[in-house]
Amino acid sequence: MRRLLPVCLLLSAVLADAQPEEWSRPFPGHRVVGNLYSVGTWDLGCFLVTSEAGHILINTGLADSTPLLRANVEALGFRFEDIRILLTMQAHYDHTAAFAEIKEITGAALWATADDAPLLADGGASDPHFRGEYPFAPVEVDRILADGEVIQLGEARLEVIETPGHTPGSVTYAMTAHENGREYRVLLANMGSMNPGLRLLEDPTYPGIAEDFAETFRRQLELEVDIWVAAHASQWGLHDKYRPGNPYDAEAFVDPEGFREQVLYYQELFEEALAAERR
Ligand SMILES: [Zn+2]
Repeated sequence: MRRLLPVCLLLSAVLADAQPEEWSRPFPGHRVVGNLYSVGTWDLGCFLVTSEAGHILINTGLADSTPLLRANVEALGFRFEDIRILLTMQAHYDHTAAFAEIKEITGAALWATADDAPLLADGGASDPHFRGEYPFAPVEVDRILADGEVIQLGEARLEVIETPGHTPGSVTYAMTAHENGREYRVLLANMGSMNPGLRLLEDPTYPGIAEDFAETFRRQLELEVDIWVAAHASQWGLHDKYRPGNPYDAEAFVDPEGFREQVLYYQELFEEALAAERR
């Protein structure tokens, strides 16, 4: 059973003029599979991919999330200062706001897609939807990632799969993990959810947004996946798959059907929004 959340967390944040409490609530770090660890908060997905040559951190939480991330990384036995590369799945403040601080602490390089890099560099001012409504500390992007490229750090490998729409440069990463004598195809997937007020056709939020969403769903449905994680725990069902204290068990995260259902769910919402605009 999938938990399909019709409630948009960002919308509730706007209405309450406050962040959902789940975004800041601490949650213990834990291993997902192989060298992939979940180190975020109760709902904001942050991930650590470890290697002998240092680590890759994907996403932050809100601006004050650094101590939570650090505590999770260190409790898992890794040094926060060994983070070498910072990546984002979508340049929205609830996943990027601590990058500037973490970059300062670790000296890590931030790599991003060409279409999300400007949003990171100006702290969301150029965000075509929020237009600076949810600012975060600007952070310099050190390298532009291209679709299909493979990020390498020591033995860690992450393939870049551009999945735009939610933001102009949203991105999904694919990796392979080895455990239990088998190979797991793993996705760190940015889901194509639509924030309220996005315009797809007439006066679009950004030119080409409808084509971007359509292509994102098409590509994601073609991806091979055994285990997947996403930017919000509610999207990938973290709390159904793992409870603090559970022993490490990669099999508990195997969920290819759940991924497909969740992509289809967002695709349906997109199709409905398209139809509503055509009316
Ligand atoms: Zn977002």
